[in-house]
Amino acid sequence: GMAGSEYLEVRGLSVEFDGFKAVSGVDLTVLQGDLRFLIGPNGAGKTTLIDAITGLVPATGSVHKSGTEILGRPVHRIARLGVGRTFQTASVFEQLSVLQNLDIAAGAGRSALTLLRRRKGVLPQIEEALETIGLTAHRDKPAGVLAHGQKQWLEIGMLLVQNASVLLLDEPVAGMSLEERDETGNLLRRIGTDRVVVVVEHDMDFMRSFATSVTVLAGGRVLSEGSVEQVQADPAVQEVYLGT
Ligand code: ADP
Repeated sequence: GMAGSEYLEVRGLSVEFDGFKAVSGVDLTVLQGDLRFLIGPNGAGKTTLIDAITGLVPATGSVHKSGTEILGRPVHRIARLGVGRTFQTASVFEQLSVLQNLDIAAGAGRSALTLLRRRKGVLPQIEEALETIGLTAHRDKPAGVLAHGQKQWLEIGMLLVQNASVLLLDEPVAGMSLEERDETGNLLRRIGTDRVVVVVEHDMDFMRSFATSVTVLAGGRVLSEGSVEQVQADPAVQEVYLGT
């Protein structure tokens, strides 16, 4: 990440599908160093919100990434402005090595000059990402043979080499062992110190262990926001989670 302070600021964001408001007037500010968990029942609008921020679905309102309006720009522009996301299922190139996956990610959308530099060897940023995601020893293995958790970390590494300073992660620990889950939490803490990290999550134990703040969505709106303790103590949150 860059020096200084990165932030994501969403204001009055709304997404409509054929007259149905999947996201309604959402405000969300996440600062660098914050590990923000985005939770809420199925259908709350979590994925749609992430889709809108990354340009996959049209939306109204505004989305600033560290001072730059990104709403309305095409998906690839938003990615190049440093907003990266992962999906629930890791999408790595299984036949290619860990290093090749990172190399392709680093090259995606880059200038000819950068591509020329890449030929001279492994970019320092790729070495650094390998260290960060703990896959240095596995760099020459095909991604397809990695453990489930390692594939998710590789996908995060692919965002790091694209210089993403805002990371939106959709259920990054789904299907992971407890050990992998804790390693992922520690990884997110490390990369989160100089980046904005938003995690869409259903795993409440994981949230309690690692979230520095939580936003609860329900019915397309922000229902509650604050520390883990604050949102857990909020009767409105208890109602949507425990049923009426
Ligand atoms: P969450 O991720 O919190 O489970 P979603 O963002 O997936 O919620 O969905 C929010 C609401 O929007 C749901 O009611 C869902 O059915 C609806 N929705 C999501 N995507 C579409 C779409 N492409 N077309 C129509 N409705 C959609």
